[in-house]
Amino acid sequence: MDADFIVVGAGTAGLPAAICAAERGATVLLFDGETEIGGTLRYARELSAAGTQQQQKSDIADSPDAHFAEVLTLAKGEANEAVLRLAVDNAADTIAWLERLGVRIDPETPQIVFNHEAYKTPRTYWAVDGGSEIVAALARRIAHFEKSGHIRLRLGTSCRSLLYRDGAVTGVSVRDAEGRDRRYYAGKVLLSTGGYAANQLLYRHFHGVDQILDWAPHYARGSGLEAALDVGAGLTGENGFNLSFGAVMDGNGPARKILCRLNTLPQLRQPWEIIVNSEGKRFIREDEPSIDAQEQALMHQPGYCGFMLFDDRIHREAPDRMRKWYVPDATEDFERHAWFFSAGTLEELADAAGIDASGLETTVRRYNEAQVHGSDPLGRQHMPAPIATPPFYAIRFQGCNVISPIGILTDATLRALRANGEAIPNLYVAGEIIGSCQLMGRSAAGGMMATPALSFGRLLGETLAFTRLDRSETQQLTETG
Ligand SMILES: Cc1cc2nc3c(=O)[nH]c(=O)nc-3n(C[C@H](O)[C@H](O)[C@H](O)COP(=O)(O)OP(=O)(O)OC[C@H]3O[C@@H](n4cnc5c(N)ncnc54)[C@H](O)[C@@H]3O)c2cc1C
Repeated sequence: MDADFIVVGAGTAGLPAAICAAERGATVLLFDGETEIGGTLRYARELSAAGTQQQQKSDIADSPDAHFAEVLTLAKGEANEAVLRLAVDNAADTIAWLERLGVRIDPETPQIVFNHEAYKTPRTYWAVDGGSEIVAALARRIAHFEKSGHIRLRLGTSCRSLLYRDGAVTGVSVRDAEGRDRRYYAGKVLLSTGGYAANQLLYRHFHGVDQILDWAPHYARGSGLEAALDVGAGLTGENGFNLSFGAVMDGNGPARKILCRLNTLPQLRQPWEIIVNSEGKRFIREDEPSIDAQEQALMHQPGYCGFMLFDDRIHREAPDRMRKWYVPDATEDFERHAWFFSAGTLEELADAAGIDASGLETTVRRYNEAQVHGSDPLGRQHMPAPIATPPFYAIRFQGCNVISPIGILTDATLRALRANGEAIPNLYVAGEIIGSCQLMGRSAAGGMMATPALSFGRLLGETLAFTRLDRSETQQLTETG
């Protein structure tokens, strides 16, 4: 046997797993295909937790039960309740654990934030220097345990498959930094290789559409997920596909960057414009306060796309439509940019933008009538001006996501399960490889990816260190593997 515990993926879930196992005396082999550790934690910012010391100090009444109930409602019956429960029950301890490692949780937190559906209670935290500060703190612990010999970190080393014998996982097959194929054996294997959102083929296979965004890190290719499938793991999360609202891409076609994001949050800016689909029809009251309701409505529109539409008066008088804080330099560019359109008539605008012209004209006429009478069929309250003064403008936006809804079926002990619910002996999963759907169903809830990944890694490290295989048993596996 080469180690008590093999961790594949030195990112958000893998680093805490390796550290917590090493703290308890286990020997850990930690592999990552990249040349540095940290994974997606480097880009993540928001954590969410209920029942923290920070909340207590600020007299914020909250509990894991309340957190669970809110996310469960958002999940619309699609979450794995045992896994969600594990996440919310351990989130506050994870925040405290990070602080013990030297991470400075921003004293201005917890807050209510609006990147995803806002929690009812201030429950969102971040480190002063974001995810990279957490990575730095974890890196210090990894270095400490490398010195003590408890962790052997192998960078540039990709897991290619799992070793599997007599129905149990016995280790991993990797290609190391020198291009050599090697096998390593251990009592337990954790796959914490992240999601598949950068793998266009897998994304299309699972969701039937192109990944339009190139924001997912390039290593999010689902290779760990495929390795688990090869040894019989079951998939879950097919109903968890969800896209965020209001992203304007930097051009047409798959794998684009977000140029800017429209400010469609009435909490931050009341709407002056209308929002239509490619048929020219409104599909949501534009002052809908629920981000989740906006996202769900977009999921039913052709091509998951919409258009923000307005006239010259609104163009000149309305407050800024862009969420500047999101992409600081974003400006409206109707002259050059492919997703910004302007024209002298609604018909010309519709033709330029790819919207059905007669549908759009009918919609605008009805909206203008509603605006005059102060009564909107969709229930919109804020209607300061009609859409009547040429030229007319449209900004296209697209639903998109960077996380992976589908993942390996698991339970409250984070074992990898077969489709029939049976555990695959010695194989564990944590992080995005379990899919967002098991945590938050068909929705996006703030901090509900990075925090569970950290918590689940920590919990696995703590518990698996005490459940090592008997040495003679693992010796036998090595010889026969
Ligand atoms: C831009 C961005 C911002 C985000 N912001 C937030 C946020 O604010 N809050 C939140 O909750 N969530 C956020 N998320 C999601 C969240 O960050 C991720 O879901 C989470 O960090 C994933 O953790 P992980 O441990 O599963 O994977 P990662 O942290 O990505 O780690 C996976 C590691 O596995 C390695 N790896 C992959 N395949 C192999 C292989 N075959 N062999 C060896 N190594 C391999 C990778 O190199 C990587 O280091 C964000 C995601 C993105 C892309």
